[in-house]
Amino acid sequence: MTEIVKKSAPIILEEINKAKSILLHCHPSPDPDSVGSALAMKFALESLGKKVTLIQGDNEIPKAFEFPGVETIVKKSYGEINTADYDLFISQDASSKGMISFLKEVIFPENMKVIVIDHHASNVGYGHINCIDASYPATAQMIFDLLKEMNIKITHDIALNLFMGIYTDTGGFQYGNTDYKTFDIVSELTELAPEFAKTIFTMNNSKSKSALIFDGLAISSITEYYNGILVIASVNFDQITKNNINKEEIYSSNISNEIKSVEGYYIGACMIETEQNIVKVSFRTRDENKYDVSRLAVALGGGGHKAAAGVRLNMTMNEAINKVVETTKIIYNL
Ligand code: AMP
Ligand code: MN
Ligand code: MN
Repeated sequence: MTEIVKKSAPIILEEINKAKSILLHCHPSPDPDSVGSALAMKFALESLGKKVTLIQGDNEIPKAFEFPGVETIVKKSYGEINTADYDLFISQDASSKGMISFLKEVIFPENMKVIVIDHHASNVGYGHINCIDASYPATAQMIFDLLKEMNIKITHDIALNLFMGIYTDTGGFQYGNTDYKTFDIVSELTELAPEFAKTIFTMNNSKSKSALIFDGLAISSITEYYNGILVIASVNFDQITKNNINKEEIYSSNISNEIKSVEGYYIGACMIETEQNIVKVSFRTRDENKYDVSRLAVALGGGGHKAAAGVRLNMTMNEAINKVVETTKIIYNL
């Protein structure tokens, strides 16, 4: 447990104790760290007798996420709820207000306290209380430490949700941010939720045919820049509609990950025009020290981690590709 988390725990608990109605959310293109952290927090707050609403946010939760409590997530985005109904909002795994919703400007009403719990280095702290610690590999691992410090019992359902967040954000324990502390925690979580492997298997083996077609389109489009330092896959809106690709099933990070797995390629970028003139970009790197992609993403207006980052660009695909290529040159002095 870090000092930041240790110090934040009693302050956060005090706000929770005061609150009557608490709002939680998942971030756009929800990943297991977002969904798992939110569900774990929901179960924890309910164990304290609190009234909690967890909204899915901008996008649907992938069907492959068979996490305990997933059926209780309200299918609304931040702009679709009445924020005046809540006196506490706990935002997790969202590095900026944009990662709460891109659909509409995110406004916090005066009567609503905002707590931010996050592990993104690019998070500037947009809440009244900010528990931000980039030394954690996953928000879910922060929640584990926070719950322990608050003396909240980790149940089976909390454990499985936290496990899925930690498992995914460490890339299945392969990223540099995984250490013995992660394994200590995961040891406890998997003892509480021994069926964890089944939940991982379901998540990784529920692909539809259209998702495979998307992968094919993306991989066949790859273009090298700067001798392979940057390699871009791009799929535009027309291709997505023509091939009836279900947008909720596009995992851009699989493609950027695949690209960076090629020897000689350093930054993998997957660029998808999810709506006309809205390009979602996912960056992954094999060398986070030399090519820290959070710097690239932040320069483009997005955020993320050294090895995994992203941004949304409101422009045509061609403009977006040019912008990424040019910004890469500037950021890494190529
Ligand atoms: P992804 O490639 O979508 O898996 O995202 C990788 C990381 O970058 C995640 O930690 C996200 O939180 C972050 N990220 C992705 N898109 C954005 C964005 N538009 N703004 C800020 N952070 C982002
Ligand atoms: Mn996330
Ligand atoms: Mn995360």
